[in-house]
Amino acid sequence: MPVSGLPPYDSQNIFARILRGEIPCKKVYEDAFALAFHDIAPQAPTHILVIPKGPYCSFADFSASASEADIAGFFRAVGKIAKDLGLEAPGYRMLANMGEHSGQEVPHFHVHLFAGRPLGRMIPA
Ligand code: AMP
Repeated sequence: MPVSGLPPYDSQNIFARILRGEIPCKKVYEDAFALAFHDIAPQAPTHILVIPKGPYCSFADFSASASEADIAGFFRAVGKIAKDLGLEAPGYRMLANMGEHSGQEVPHFHVHLFAGRPLGRMIPA
């Protein structure tokens, strides 16, 4: 369900195509709720994208429209991936862009996991 005033879900977006297996990805994890894979243009030594399996344009759409089971399943998967990759002790950053001002490029909700070095300021000056 698109958020009011925003375009509907585009089933041809690149992450939808990855979910359908039309485009390859470097998969690190998959379950009923989430797929995780390496970002094609990593911005940190570890840069993983975690996407829900359902057709949600953004965090706004996901948080408003997904079932409680899908929301819980997705965020449990994000935590499990970070833990299983050994990111918890050194630490990591979790980030989701939403909409124009954030620079969201792919209109399928996704969480970035950045890790592998000190990550600096949260938002560049
Ligand atoms: P965002 O700006 O939050 O929408 O982030 C989109 C991310 O998707 C960027 O970091 C891109 O490098 C990444 N990306 C785009 N196409 C692919 C792809 N085919 N496989 C993996 N990552 C991708």
